[in-house]
Amino acid sequence: MSDCLFCKIVNKESPADFIYEDDTLVVFKDIRPAAPVHLLLVPKKHIRSVNDLEDGDRDILAELFMVAKDMAREMGVDRSGYKLLFNVEKGGGQIIFHLHLHLIGGWKR
Ligand code: AMP
Ligand code: ZN
Repeated sequence: MSDCLFCKIVNKESPADFIYEDDTLVVFKDIRPAAPVHLLLVPKKHIRSVNDLEDGDRDILAELFMVAKDMAREMGVDRSGYKLLFNVEKGGGQIIFHLHLHLIGGWKR
């Protein structure tokens, strides 16, 4: 998708503060963090939203959650707690139409 910002980030045509990359996904810092830790986990495959997931995308979903767990530990929020969030379509707050999982945490309690 040539006009998709997250495809451009995945392809290194647009900059991002990368934290992790594997064959399936990339992880980078959200440019407008909603909390001290705010990462975006983005599949390399262009999937528009949760509504567009197909049967063949199951491995991608598994990887998203397994990497989210590892990232939470690496960022030091696994025990204090965090949120994993998919915004779905406009009414659900989605503004970038390339599937991504928010990892948000690090609040002082
Ligand atoms: P959503 O509302 O779920 O579509 O979330 C999109 C997220 O992408 C927002 O939290 C934005 O702050 C974030 N974002 C937009 N542009 C960039 C960018 N160039 N680099 C990193 N994060 C971005
Ligand atoms: Zn895309």
